[in-house]
Amino acid sequence: MHPKQKVREVSDTLEKMFGVPKHDEVDPLDCLIRTILSQNTNDVNRDKAYDNLRERLPTWEDVLTADVREIEEEIRVGGLSNQKSKRIKNFLNQLKSEKGTLNLDFINELSTNEAVEFLCQHKGIGIKTAYVTLAFAFGRDIFPVDTHILRISKRLGFIPNNCTAEKAHELMAPLIPQGKAFPFHINLITFGRKICHARNPKCSECPITDHCLYFKQIQK
Ligand code: SF4
Repeated sequence: MHPKQKVREVSDTLEKMFGVPKHDEVDPLDCLIRTILSQNTNDVNRDKAYDNLRERLPTWEDVLTADVREIEEEIRVGGLSNQKSKRIKNFLNQLKSEKGTLNLDFINELSTNEAVEFLCQHKGIGIKTAYVTLAFAFGRDIFPVDTHILRISKRLGFIPNNCTAEKAHELMAPLIPQGKAFPFHINLITFGRKICHARNPKCSECPITDHCLYFKQIQK
């Protein structure tokens, strides 16, 4: 079966299982900073770090003018606080000096490629962070690849086993049905959390075993 068809069938099956997730309204800069905080940690610690930061320094202007050590202290629970505090402060500094304001509304005027290029030119903002921001906050039809999605996509054979997360964004893009990037992204993460775990995936409960190369291998 052509990989595009396979992706379509898996996407349809997951929608039957989990429904069609809808976007929440989120502020783009809030979304970007939250995504920087999510690097190499789980959602619970990311949210704690984000909430601590917003409580102590409620506006992005406050964060911009704060000492980097203060930012680091507030986000420590999210891990890599030394790097992340610098990344956040640097990004806000550059945004302010380039655009004269601390919001990302100008991205509405950019094409998706231009927006990815703009975001990724800043230190600490990689393709996943850029894609998450554009998909979640701007409703762009692009497919971010997180750790769950990378693992499942390899097991299903959408991408080769040795594929990096960065390369996976490029290889997955042409396979995603139009308009389905966001629901498929959310549903694959839910599927990864509930069934296709990193260790001991619950293959006996899985509705897509027919599509899974990993499953075929463990049957041998
Ligand atoms: S068969 Fe197992 S490994 Fe394959 S997608 Fe389903 S749960 Fe994951």
